[in-house]
Amino acid sequence: MTGEPLIDPFGREVNYLRVSVTDRCDFRCVYCMSEEMTFLPKAEILSLEELDRVCSAFVSRGVRKLRLTGGEPLVRRNIMSLFRNLSRHLDSGDLDELTVTTNASQLSKYAKELAGYGVRRINVSLDSLLPEKFASITRWGKFDKVMAGLEAAKDAGIEVKINCVALKGVNDDEICEFVGWCGKHGFDLTFIEVMPMGDIGGETRVDQYLPLSMVRATLNEKWTLDDIDYSSGGPARYSICKETGRKVGFITPMTHNFCESCNRVRLTCTGTLYMCLGQEDAADLRTPLRMSDQDDLLLDAIDEAIGRKPKGHDFIIDRRRQRPSVSRHMSVTGG
Ligand code: SAM
Ligand code: SF4
Repeated sequence: MTGEPLIDPFGREVNYLRVSVTDRCDFRCVYCMSEEMTFLPKAEILSLEELDRVCSAFVSRGVRKLRLTGGEPLVRRNIMSLFRNLSRHLDSGDLDELTVTTNASQLSKYAKELAGYGVRRINVSLDSLLPEKFASITRWGKFDKVMAGLEAAKDAGIEVKINCVALKGVNDDEICEFVGWCGKHGFDLTFIEVMPMGDIGGETRVDQYLPLSMVRATLNEKWTLDDIDYSSGGPARYSICKETGRKVGFITPMTHNFCESCNRVRLTCTGTLYMCLGQEDAADLRTPLRMSDQDDLLLDAIDEAIGRKPKGHDFIIDRRRQRPSVSRHMSVTGG
């Protein structure tokens, strides 16, 4: 770190940057995208070199964890070059963790290389263990490819945490099975409540919303979950499953407010910085980035943005509103 740490108006230090490197994806998960999506024109997207510059500017100001996400980060062309370049911050000791959230479709191809660039843990999204149901949730996903990708990650020595979005009437009957399956494979697991982000076509979130209190009640019928104090630096609350010995986490943005300890900001692939996942306010970093080869303007814009980080968010899934409370898709801001 060469500059001052990034401290927001509420005294929280921002040391975690999530970067959506593309808005494109090879899946069309029903809760995330509609089948017909209009993606951003190329000129608006930061090049891999520009993404490296922004990430490195944040690292110079004390960011110690970088997560690349999307869309599907591993479908961006030449994405391995960004991992390779960013890994220099791991080597220098300025960065603690370089990681990725992925649907695993490309992991067979890339797991080994990722491990070589210092990626030790990854998050993989998986919402069903049944091939047919998996196909109906992801629309375009290939279950076997995902399973092969997970094996490749294991073989490369990468730790995997499965993220499972709890969907009412869709995967609620698999909740207990997920814990056993993850235990068998040595994966940690986090359940996520569906968030009202972006227009997704026909279905409404009210239909999909399954509070994690109900997930937890279901799990308690089969598994012994002991709450632990562990934090991965994120909003999940963790338990240990006594029978499998693996962690089971719960991310409940709808029912539990985790904003007090928020240490993160999110960059989109167009260089827009969102200081809060649940708010519309954002800062344009692409203009200062492209205005100069030096980073002064960029760093000023980052400081100005962190000075506006809001105290918290207010998601609502409401039967009367029937509209997403945040209009952009999760694939834009990154999960
Ligand atoms: N494509 C990658 C993947 O699926 O892991 C990374 C991007 S995806 C947008 C990141 C995470 O956001 C995934 O775990 C996904 O399940 C979650 N997600 C997407 N839309 C969501 C929503 N409306 N509510 C809750 N989680 C959502
Ligand atoms: Fe793609 Fe991930 Fe969204 Fe699914 S959740 S459509 S894999 S970006």
